[in-house]
Amino acid sequence: MKQFQFVYHDSETFSEELSDFRCWCQEHRITKKMFQIYSEELEPEVLQTVCAAVEEIFPDTPYMGCSTSGNIVDCRMSGNITVICTVFELPSTQVKVFQYDLSLQPVEHITEQILEKAEENPWVKAIEMFFTIPEGSTTRFCDGLKGIRPDIQIFGGVACSDDITSDDSCVFSKGAGVSKRSIVILFYGGEDFHVESINVTGWKPLGRKFHVTRSNGSILQELDGIPAYDVYRKYLNIRNDENFFYNTLEFPLFYEHNDTTILRTPVASNEDGSITMTSDMDIGSVVRISYGDPGTIIESIKQDSRKIAEFSPDLLHIFSCAARRTFWTTKEPTYEIYPFREISASSGFFSHGEFLRTGGNLNQHNVTLVIAAMREGEKKSAVPAEPSPGENSLSKVPLVSRLATFISMTSLELEDINRKLEQANEKLKTAAIIDGLTGLYNRTEIQDRIASAIAGGSDRKISLIMLDIDNFKQVNDTYGHQAGDAVIMGLANLLNSEKSDYMRNVSSGRWGGEEFMMLLYDTDLSAASCIADLIRQCFANTDFPAIRPQTVSLGVTQARADDTLDRLCTRVDEALYKAKKNGKNQVVVI
Ligand code: GH3
Ligand code: MG
Ligand code: MG
Repeated sequence: MKQFQFVYHDSETFSEELSDFRCWCQEHRITKKMFQIYSEELEPEVLQTVCAAVEEIFPDTPYMGCSTSGNIVDCRMSGNITVICTVFELPSTQVKVFQYDLSLQPVEHITEQILEKAEENPWVKAIEMFFTIPEGSTTRFCDGLKGIRPDIQIFGGVACSDDITSDDSCVFSKGAGVSKRSIVILFYGGEDFHVESINVTGWKPLGRKFHVTRSNGSILQELDGIPAYDVYRKYLNIRNDENFFYNTLEFPLFYEHNDTTILRTPVASNEDGSITMTSDMDIGSVVRISYGDPGTIIESIKQDSRKIAEFSPDLLHIFSCAARRTFWTTKEPTYEIYPFREISASSGFFSHGEFLRTGGNLNQHNVTLVIAAMREGEKKSAVPAEPSPGENSLSKVPLVSRLATFISMTSLELEDINRKLEQANEKLKTAAIIDGLTGLYNRTEIQDRIASAIAGGSDRKISLIMLDIDNFKQVNDTYGHQAGDAVIMGLANLLNSEKSDYMRNVSSGRWGGEEFMMLLYDTDLSAASCIADLIRQCFANTDFPAIRPQTVSLGVTQARADDTLDRLCTRVDEALYKAKKNGKNQVVVI
């Protein structure tokens, strides 16, 4: 693949240059080629003149183009109207151009047709697209292409104009004319065609996470329950005025979506405190404010340029967000892409948005650099060309980058502290009502529960069972305190309502040492005494390792209409006392 470039100044000179080029192509037996036309000029008449000249001299060559916010050739700014001719050298390489009018059909029909066309042309390996500035979100378009063959790479840019706040833009292609609302699609492929597309941002997340709590399509209404615009005002002191767009360019939102992070710049702030974005912002997704720092950006571009160099491309197509151009105010607009100069020929433009398919999903990005590296045949050089560090080499991390790291780390630590505090609070709440040894309610909690159970009057049958392990002192004295604990646990397990089905209506608590209290809802005296005897039997049959079986005495009573907590507890205690006095290991009902 080779790239030739022409800058249009006037029709006559342009036609002459193209004619000379046609001779060159004939001499070199070039049969396959295509044109890409990038224009800062939006005037349809001018564009039609350029297209007509190309069509006249190369009637069989496909072309496509769009309006831009600046044109790039070999990592430098090129003329207002730049015409790129890509020449293919291997016969297997194929290209095809399609244009779809967005004002004539719904976006779903268009994506269906693209899918069908990709099926019909199994040689397709990549799709490049130019999109006029969309009226709404591009999410439906991106989602519509999800089903396309997974190995097809998709990349491209949204057309733009000189004024990046304007939504005037156009695309055009052979046979379809200039349109202000269309998509131009280019299929590339063939056996010997190879492509790799990546995106580079260099922007880094800054500070805490926000959750999208309210949104409506691409209108971002609330972050963490506050109007989205307030986040920009509170954290960055950016005012809701005519400069909002420019001021937020440096601090786009870092949006986690489709398993990648995407930068999204607000396109407008609205009166109700919401912000309009270029694509849908799903409720529940996480965003962070991000910042652009020159040193970090250059460093990440250099790293990615090494990856691209490994691929050994014949040429690169570059789609760089117009916001990046405005970011490098004191430098050449293409300053940041200089590392790619060493790798291969390149062309592209400053765009209003960038498209890239990653992990099967097509996403529209902002403030991003999308690079498509292409090659015909095998890698040219075994050793990848290492881009020279050149003037971009930075030995010192700038202050702003260190401060941003500091802020990000501090907010991560705060998030961690908050999480731990929440966990500790949960634990404290539990500790306040649960007995540490047995996991049953503690005395205060079971007392409270008895009090509220009888407080509502006697329309529900409430019974109490009080339990005390027999001769427990002896267990401690004979086998030690730990063995004593095991016996306490043995009885507690029988009382744990979560573990036993027959205890669904029961709250059990540890009353003291080896004494327990059971509160039985909707249970009358006879049912309660049956349960009490069941527990007595179960406990007597519980085996403890190296300890002989133990027994328990139980008192049972049912709440009466005039009962107070005190009266009820005294009565059940009396029943228990009788059980002890009568010889233990028995149930006494009062
Ligand atoms: P009785 O049959 O009359 O109830 O006799 P008893 O030996 O069980 O009598 P008493 O209630 O006086 O003894 C309770 C003992 O329980 C006293 C105390 O040392 C022991 N104890 C209290 N709490 C714990 C505990 O958490 N673990 C252990 N291992 N022992 C405890
Ligand atoms: Mg006791
Ligand atoms: Mg006892």
